[in-house]
Amino acid sequence: MNVKDPVCNMTINSDLTEHNSKFGGNNYYFCSESCKKLFNENPKKYIKKSVFTKFLQWLSKENEKEFGNKRLSCH
Ligand SMILES: [Zn+2]
Repeated sequence: MNVKDPVCNMTINSDLTEHNSKFGGNNYYFCSESCKKLFNENPKKYIKKSVFTKFLQWLSKENEKEFGNKRLSCH
């Protein structure tokens, strides 16, 4: 399964990587031992970041639906 390394945002295969960590009932996968180490030092930092990124992606999609490709302008 393709998953994202929450630290560097690289797409990796969870079946092939040996670097994984459990946090808050979820499994997280990493491209390298150093990414895993960074995650374990401050998991919340990376989880929040990825949730926030998803939120921003959702928001821009919603805006596209609403406004199409028109640029927002005050005039
Ligand atoms: Zn990584």
